[in-house]
Formats: sequence, structure tokens, C-alpha cells
Amino acid sequence: MTYNRSGRSGLKLPAISLGLWHNFGGINTLENGRAMVRTAFDLGITHFDLANNYGPPAGSAEEMFAGILRKDFLPYRDEMIISTKAGYYMWPGPYGDWGSKKYLVSSLDQSLKRLGLDYVDIFYHHRPDPNTPLEETMAALDLIVRQGKALYVGLSNYSAEQTREASRILKQLGTPALIHQPSYSMLNRWIEGGLQDVLDEEGIGSIVFSPLAGGILTDRYLNGITPDSRAGGPSVFLRPEQITDEVIGKVKQLTDLASERGQKLSQMALAWVLRRGRVTSALIGASKTSQIEDAVGALNATEFTDEELALIDRILG
Ligand code: NDP
Repeated sequence: MTYNRSGRSGLKLPAISLGLWHNFGGINTLENGRAMVRTAFDLGITHFDLANNYGPPAGSAEEMFAGILRKDFLPYRDEMIISTKAGYYMWPGPYGDWGSKKYLVSSLDQSLKRLGLDYVDIFYHHRPDPNTPLEETMAALDLIVRQGKALYVGLSNYSAEQTREASRILKQLGTPALIHQPSYSMLNRWIEGGLQDVLDEEGIGSIVFSPLAGGILTDRYLNGITPDSRAGGPSVFLRPEQITDEVIGKVKQLTDLASERGQKLSQMALAWVLRRGRVTSALIGASKTSQIEDAVGALNATEFTDEELALIDRILG
């Protein structure tokens, strides 16, 4: 495993991190989740990413992870970076969503109970809240660190401008933002339009989610949609309509390029987000241990020639 420093902080994160958004909920088996976390840790993946609402049902991914920690990982807690978040709908009424201090503090208390932990390593505000003053949300993050409930704080899904302003406030409070968690993949490059520059200027790291576009940038859908896949299952976040002939045509061309590089497409897609050192960690999801092994294998070839990068851009038009 390669470990990269997160921005200008003291914390290093693995180049590949494991997210528990899908496949660790109440609808999934503990044994598979346990096998995946064990495989990941044995391969040097020290960082596990959660949120209050991961499941389904919401909260159940934190509960499953707590069970795995209790069984296998209590002696290794100090070798792990565990994150959680709040910002999306979690419970009814005005205090279970968005970005108030009331919501963030209560939600983290609930997460810590579900996780069976005294603190998390990173606590994120999961999405910007247009109606709560940014000062209040950032003060909540600062408070949580001072209370010892999180060691570091992060932002997720904030625009470049929102990030700059949040970073200014957090620095004033004395709790600088450790990391930003945006979406990023060969198919979704919005962070190149300003956010990455702000992160560099502010000294904030980045951990990019859905680097495989939920499975599109893999061999998953080359031969149709199977019921055990995300697009074939109940998840609303990848639907069969998104797996069009046009998309698969491009995926096939990318697969050929990857194989010329001695990689699977999933490996080339991860190497691509990590290219030239601008991203601290690629945050993958997995439904089986072999996918985690594939991901770590991506680190064997992370360099790209200018010709390869240009060809990828041409294929994706
Ligand atoms: P990915 O783009 O990595 O998609 C993961 C899916 O791709 C897997 O579930 C699997 O699908 C498929 N896959 C992975 N590896 C392979 C492989 N080697 N071969 C074939 N298929 C493969 O990321 P996710 O969308 O799952 O997101 C990752 C994490 O990012 C989440 O768990 C969460 O922690 C975080 N996240 C954060 C968000 C935010 O707002 N901050 C939003 C979304 C995610 P299948 O299940 O079909 O096998």
C-alpha cells in the first residue's frame, strides 16, 4: 500500500480506501462484510468510510462495522482511520437533516453509539446546507473536535467557493479542514474546474468517491446486467437505464487500453484518479473480496503517458 499525506496535515491515508455505503447494510450478510474488511486491512487499507445514513436501513452499516470491529479489530483500533458523516436526512422533524449544530452534534453521538467507539478519526459535513449559516456548521465541526468526538473534520460535496469559505472559517476556529470528499472519475470530472485548485491552495487533502462510477468503469456490465450487481439490485443509485449501449461501447474501448497497460479497467480507472498525485485516496466500494484485491493491484501501474491520457479523453468524447 502507498500512504499519501492528506493536504498539509500530519495524517497519511492509504491510496485506496474502502467505503461502506453499499453492501454493509441490514440487507447484507455480516460474514461477507467481515471478509471484505479483513481483506482490505490485510492489504494495507487502513481507512474505512461510513456515514450516519449508510445501510439500508440507515444506520445499519455503522452497526455492522461495529460488529466487525468487536470480533476482529479491537487490538488494531490505533492502526485504523474510521470516518463518519452527517448532512443527509436521518430522522424525522427539523433536527435530523442538513447542517445545524443541533443535528451534527446529535447525529455524531448516535453514530458513536452505533459504532461502539469513543471517537471517530474524521467527521464530515456530508453536503452543504443553503439555509444554515456556514459559521454555525463549521462551529459545530470545531466543537466536535474540542469535545474529543472526532480527531479531524472534513467537507463533502462542497463547491470550490463553499470550500474556500468553509476553510477560512475553520482555520480561524483553529480546526483546519483535513480533507474534502467529492465525486470524481473518468466520467465525472467536475473537481478539475476549480475545486482541486482551492484544495491545493488551502492545504486540504481529497478522497474521491465513486472512482469506478458505481461499477460502470469495470468489467461488471460487459456481458449484461446480473442480479447480484448494483444496477441489477435494489439500489436507486445505479439503474439499468444508465448502462446504455453507448456507455458499454466506451467501456469496451477503455478495457482494451487497460489491457495494453497490463491492467483491468477497474484498475486503470483507479490509477487515473490517482495520477500525478493530486488525489490523496481513491474511495472504492466493493461487494466481494476479489474487488478489493483488484483495487490494490491498481497501484502496480499508476503512471500514464500523455498519449494514453489523450486516448482516454478521445474515447470518452
Ligand atoms: P465505486 O465507484 O468504487 O463503485 C463500487 C462498485 O463497483 C462495487 O460495489 C462493485 O459493484 C463495483 N466494483 C468494484 N470493484 C470492482 C471490480 N474489481 N470489478 C467489477 N466491479 C467492481 O464506489 P461507490 O459508488 O461504491 O462509492 C464508494 C464509497 O464512496 C462509498 O462506500 C462511500 O463511502 C463513499 N461515497 C460518498 C458519497 C458522499 O456523498 N460523500 C456518495 C457516494 C459514495 P457491485 O456491487 O455491482 O459488485
